[in-house]
Amino acid sequence: MAKHKMALHTQILLGMLAGAAAGWLLAATSWGKDFSYHWIQPWGTIFVRMLKMIAVPLILASLVKGISDLKDIVQFRKIGIRTLGWYVLTTVTAISIGLILVNTFRPGDRIDRATVEKLQTEFSSSEKVQKKIETARSTREQPALQFLVDMVPANVFDALADNRRMLQVIFFAVFLGIAMVLLPAHKVETVKSFFDGFNEIILKMVDLIMLMAPYAVFALIAHLIVSTGGDWNLMSGLLWYALTVTAGLLLMIGFYMLLVKMFARKNPLWFLRQLSPAQLLAFSTSSSAATLPVTMERVEEHIGVDKEVSGFVLPVGATVNMDGTSLYQAVAAVFILQVLWPEGLGLENQLTIILTALLASIGAAAVPGAGMVMLVIVLEALGFPPEKLPIGLALIFAIDRPLDMLRTVINVTGDATVATLVAKSTGKLHEPRPKEWDDYLPPTS
Ligand code: ASP
Repeated sequence: MAKHKMALHTQILLGMLAGAAAGWLLAATSWGKDFSYHWIQPWGTIFVRMLKMIAVPLILASLVKGISDLKDIVQFRKIGIRTLGWYVLTTVTAISIGLILVNTFRPGDRIDRATVEKLQTEFSSSEKVQKKIETARSTREQPALQFLVDMVPANVFDALADNRRMLQVIFFAVFLGIAMVLLPAHKVETVKSFFDGFNEIILKMVDLIMLMAPYAVFALIAHLIVSTGGDWNLMSGLLWYALTVTAGLLLMIGFYMLLVKMFARKNPLWFLRQLSPAQLLAFSTSSSAATLPVTMERVEEHIGVDKEVSGFVLPVGATVNMDGTSLYQAVAAVFILQVLWPEGLGLENQLTIILTALLASIGAAAVPGAGMVMLVIVLEALGFPPEKLPIGLALIFAIDRPLDMLRTVINVTGDATVATLVAKSTGKLHEPRPKEWDDYLPPTS
């Protein structure tokens, strides 16, 4: 086989850079936007769809196979408790870092009134901002335990048919897996090997889809740049806010590296390199859910985490553990308070932010822009004046997409870190055995 291939992450990075260049060039023409819409964007969409297409079957197969491989239920409980413990710890750390930074740098004091007014007129009555507020309101009116209710499917085939119901699929798969562990091995052998084979096939499909990744990220980034155009004047007014979020996200990467070094005893740079294709895709798609199949493939095959851990920790983490999102929520909430409602900046409110941002990041969907919806819930929990809400969101809207891209990278990295830590502590971290798409083809020369 061709062994001199360029590393996948280098290919994807080149695709992104070329996409950015093409995007800028096209944005300078009168026909660029149209051209990109008709001829470039569809390739990005096809790629994201292909990843989403295999997400549900992958979760089902790897969870059922993984859990039914466990010797007993005690092991599952161990994995479950450690996972949740790490998830809460990393999220609270993220929110605390966010709060410390935003209170130290006070980006709200560095934005001038003219920019605030401009953002206000530009976005506060914008349909998109209003829609986020509405979505948040309908979420909040549900019973407090609605998130538990939402986890249980009324019809498993319905759940399997809807990517937004990933947690329901996980619930069913865990339940199925547990029932299998409780039966004598010979009775479940066939079902187990079916799911095992199925899982292998889907991972191979991930390898094949990834062949398209460098071209797809070209399309995704180019179209993003052409279509948003980027109002640099407005964005630069938000520079300090953006820098605060970005600094926090970078600190989180440092924190993960520390955890990997201390608890998993792995070289953190090696860890990041293995994970990088998933991180680059998270950046390009702004969706942890779309990235999930690649995250799973990287963590299992390239980092060496056993399926019984990755199959559970990663899909659950994609929707439940969003460290980047919660850090962003803390910074954005305080930033908005600094500009629009300084009297709400007391200690009590900051503590409320820790709690609500934790819950909101659990409730946030793993799709682009979800974090902003949940921000409304955080702000409302503080008693933020409702008439100022659209203005608050307008304040951060212009720069939300780039920050969304970055926080999604952190969300994915956080999940992969916890998967590695849990695997290490339960004896399920092994030497990785990476597989290429063409491993089983006969040599050509
Ligand atoms: N886009 C993020 C994700 O999918 C969620 C968010 O913060 O908006 O992980």
